[in-house]
Amino acid sequence: MANFIRFIIFDLPDGLRFLLILFLIVINYGAEFLVKRSVSKVYLKTNSPEEAVNKLRIYNQYILAILQIVTIVALEFLVAKYFTLNGKTGRILFMTLIPFVFLMVVNIGQLLIINKTYQRIRGTTESLFNQIRDLALTFLLILVPAGIIGTIMFFAREIKVESEALENIITAAIPITMMFLFNLILPFFYPKLLKAVALEDAGLRGLLDQLFVKAGVKRAQFYQWPTKGKKIANALVVGLVNPKVLISDYYLENAEPAEIEAIIAHEVGHLKHKHLLKRLLYLVGGICELIFVGALLEWYENYTGKEINVYLGLAILLGPFLFYISLGLLKYYRHQEKKADEFALEIGVQPEVMITALLKLARLNHMTTKLKKLDERFQTHPSTARRIAQIEKISGYKYESKH
Ligand SMILES: [Zn+2]
Repeated sequence: MANFIRFIIFDLPDGLRFLLILFLIVINYGAEFLVKRSVSKVYLKTNSPEEAVNKLRIYNQYILAILQIVTIVALEFLVAKYFTLNGKTGRILFMTLIPFVFLMVVNIGQLLIINKTYQRIRGTTESLFNQIRDLALTFLLILVPAGIIGTIMFFAREIKVESEALENIITAAIPITMMFLFNLILPFFYPKLLKAVALEDAGLRGLLDQLFVKAGVKRAQFYQWPTKGKKIANALVVGLVNPKVLISDYYLENAEPAEIEAIIAHEVGHLKHKHLLKRLLYLVGGICELIFVGALLEWYENYTGKEINVYLGLAILLGPFLFYISLGLLKYYRHQEKKADEFALEIGVQPEVMITALLKLARLNHMTTKLKKLDERFQTHPSTARRIAQIEKISGYKYESKH
């Protein structure tokens, strides 16, 4: 195995290397073609945008995204040779530029393949240019912070520290400090990145202000961001210190003031319960756990003089951590969503209004309201059906759909 990896990294002829990289890109395009065919078939058969969009989401989440990760890892092996020569700069390029370029090439190609089908199903009109801009922004927002943290940690390793405990503390402190910094700085730019402007409707602003007064929460700035072309109905809250509430104009255009109020009351719930800070602390807990277990393994080896098998060591180190930051984190998110819904009812949103607001959100986004149990475990939000059931349970109100 080690020999094989060594061969791939160093000894493979350059021509073959190039062909393999092309092959990695083509696999991703091919998969998107199959997805497009399958989703079109579902739409043709059911004539239901919800079912087609749901099928597409499932393919995107469980096949295409995983495939992209796997091919990026393979790509990094194929190109490692060219970057190990260039020291620190090479390493930084390797960690940020290469994944970014690859993700852009793959995703722009996939977008070109699926775009027409998606537009036909959902009736969206967003230009290709804007969609590509959104892709680039999303990847930059993930890769740049990760790249900066990686780079600083790399330089920090060169500082000579006497005590091992101190070294561990530094290793933990850098990513944690950087995560706090990014969470403080980035929300400042979100309105600009989303091309948001101050919420225009003064009446609505007054209505929403009341929610903050009622909740006893520091008042937020309200923004609206343009999503009519891509038909995204959503509201979100950002900012650890100065909260900003962003509402998509596609939702504003299609929802009643009382429904908008209900959805924002949910966002106020996130603020009241300090959910943004708690998410950050959850991740900090993960980093601490990782470093603690690492130190423990090292201590065991030093103390007993026995060496732990590399694969076993990695499994002990990464297994629980990966579980914690994936399924664990998602479960924590869903718990927060439930709490935020509860809070909206606590400050006086009528259960019926809350439920119609959630259903409208689902309808506008062509989102299915029910999810399979296993599927739901991989989502940031509980399904609309589950949220409605929860609202009915705590309020005692029974929703009758008017069909
Ligand atoms: Zn929420």
